[in-house]
Amino acid sequence: MSAPRRLQLERTLLRQISRANRRFRLIEPDDLVMVCVSGGKDSWSLLDLLRRYERKLPYSFQIIAVNLDQGQPGFPVHVMPEYLAREGYAYRIITRDTYSVVKREIPEGKAYCSLCSRLRRGILYDVAVELGASKIALGHHRDDVIETLLLNQFYAGQLKAMPPKLRSDDGRNTIVRPLVLCGEAELAEYAALLEFPIIPCDLCGSQDNLKRVEVRELLAQLEQRNPGIRKNLLAAVGNVKPSHLLDPDLRRARWLERLAPARASAAARARPQSQLIPLSSLVRKP
Ligand code: SF4
Repeated sequence: MSAPRRLQLERTLLRQISRANRRFRLIEPDDLVMVCVSGGKDSWSLLDLLRRYERKLPYSFQIIAVNLDQGQPGFPVHVMPEYLAREGYAYRIITRDTYSVVKREIPEGKAYCSLCSRLRRGILYDVAVELGASKIALGHHRDDVIETLLLNQFYAGQLKAMPPKLRSDDGRNTIVRPLVLCGEAELAEYAALLEFPIIPCDLCGSQDNLKRVEVRELLAQLEQRNPGIRKNLLAAVGNVKPSHLLDPDLRRARWLERLAPARASAAARARPQSQLIPLSSLVRKP
């Protein structure tokens, strides 16, 4: 292992996690953070880095690693528990055969990922409640955020990316993405240097989402010609100018916001004198 490079990467990634944590208040004192570990490079890195991060903080939080075995053929069931136990992590392995459901519901030749991840999410949210986890940490990183931003614009006609922190619709779970400012290339290098036992996410035989692959290639091409494109796209998500967009709801909200102080002072001016508390009544009597 190249120790200086590993240390350099570790420092960079921890700095980015720390910045994200300060900016979005992802992890708070006494949190129980359930880290979803799929066996891919990103979730392994997240687990490892969060433990290192916790040691540097002035406050403490707990970590529990959770892996969902989805019943994919050839899933190496022994790999995760062996590694997690050896490294001293608290962990749970959950087994639910979502693979059969997905195979049954999705026509041959279509990508399974959308249904698969929805099923996985539902199960993991329930597990987090059972465990009493105050946060669910996912391994999405900067490149996932900007790819999602572009995918939503290109194919869904929406301007949205991935939130660093999100309360689930039913209010039971809080999802956090501590790697939101970390680059995929650095995470991949870190995972390789630390020799995490990577389990591929294609055991199910699903094609990776074709549109996401296209967007990834497009970004790589653009980045070659304009280094810094990814950084700028990420910055753009945090630097929105609502007045320069076309969403009528946003414009209305902004207009009402501007109007609010003027309305408040008009209301104060219009209030009858009798409603005003006389200053003399505030003075304590001897
Ligand atoms: S590649 Fe397979 S296991 Fe991974 S999300 Fe898609 S369907 Fe699920």
